[in-house]
Amino acid sequence: MNNQNLLNRSLKSVWHPCTQMKQHETYPLIPIQRGDGVWLYDADGKRYLDSVSSWWVNLFGHNNPRIKDAIKLQLDTLEHVMLAGFTHEPVVELSEKLAMLTGLGHTFYGSDGASATEIALKMSFHYWRNIGKANKTKFISLQNSYHGETLGALSVTDVAIFKDTYAPLLMQSAQMPSPDFRLAEAGEDAETFALRCAQALENYVAAYHTDLAAFIIEPLVQCAAGMGMYHPAYLCRVREICNEYEVHLIADEIAVGFGRTGTMFACEQAANSVSNIADFICLSKGITGGYLPLSAVLTTDKVYQAFYDNSTVRGFLHSHSYTGNPLACSAALATLAIFETDNILQNNQEKSKLIQAKMQVLTDLPIKHLRTPGLQNSGMIFAFDVETQNAQFAKQCYQAALEQELLLRPIANTVYWMPPYTINEDEIDFMVNATLEAVKCSL
Ligand SMILES: *Cc1c(COP(=O)(O)O)cnc(C)c1O
Repeated sequence: MNNQNLLNRSLKSVWHPCTQMKQHETYPLIPIQRGDGVWLYDADGKRYLDSVSSWWVNLFGHNNPRIKDAIKLQLDTLEHVMLAGFTHEPVVELSEKLAMLTGLGHTFYGSDGASATEIALKMSFHYWRNIGKANKTKFISLQNSYHGETLGALSVTDVAIFKDTYAPLLMQSAQMPSPDFRLAEAGEDAETFALRCAQALENYVAAYHTDLAAFIIEPLVQCAAGMGMYHPAYLCRVREICNEYEVHLIADEIAVGFGRTGTMFACEQAANSVSNIADFICLSKGITGGYLPLSAVLTTDKVYQAFYDNSTVRGFLHSHSYTGNPLACSAALATLAIFETDNILQNNQEKSKLIQAKMQVLTDLPIKHLRTPGLQNSGMIFAFDVETQNAQFAKQCYQAALEQELLLRPIANTVYWMPPYTINEDEIDFMVNATLEAVKCSL
């Protein structure tokens, strides 16, 4: 099928996500036929470097032979079976691996990030009810947070453009000051600012803890807020506060999990194990290397035991049809195997430094807050904020980048890269130069 034909049919029949469809009268859809490594190709052979890993899901490139083979092998054995009353090897193996990596021993599965958020919120609420603290029903989150867009997840999300329209449908939740370092006072260092924000949190929690079930946060990077990064000291202090006042801490690592901040999970930069920071961790996006929809919520023995009972309704009666899908689990296992055999975290340290060095050419532009996450600044997220009065900057820069064969998707004035970890030096140069051109002509 040629490009034009595909575009016309898509606009007639497909309602695209996060899009005012009428804008496609001005901004054309991009028809993609195949992917390979960091590249996406259309039917005419035109290519785009996928610098945002297709909405932060891809880790090891498109058309990755190892993940593909794992799915094919699984496809010949068992494509799916319901997980209520049944089990299978891929889901058991994945749960064991995730438990080893996080120290959280019980994994509940969903199909996408938003459903993981819903699961964590419901589990926390239900835990307090099961142990006789039924007053603890409220959730808090950070200013500018993003946890997904189903109604429960949207209730703890703080992005006005996604949330305001639906306000009458949502639960009340309070937002705590964000430790995003861009919001610090002039001269204040990241750690001091983080601890000042934690103090504000403590003041709130001290006053309202009897009603609070959980605090949900995106550890180290508030991605949808425009890659707002903060010091890990915040996580340590939050854990202490949550312990003192008996409030759950839900770590939403849907975007930052699987190496994006330099460690396997962002929480590890605040403690030697995720389980020393979080009561729940939400995972999705990179979990299958960007191949199939899957999400997981991991929690502690303590939470699990509070549901384990003769009474049915004390159990967690939540389900999705595709819970623990074997194909998705096999893609996740192949993804984790690549981390191990190819020393990904270690190699990413060097790759991150290389990208940061090359990124310096962008400082000729009117930009600020050039940043990479993590204590060692060696994560695989790269961002800067462009100083421009152009209200259309994000759209224009996106279009200009496409003309440079680059998929770049600025968030307001924040330009960022979250590339597949397989990006090589030539591709990094290509990404840097195309970004430079795209930003220049959008100021
Ligand atoms: C993407 C994202 C979600 C939602 O995941 P979906 O799969 O899009 O529903 C939740 N939290 C964070 C931090 C995310 O980045």
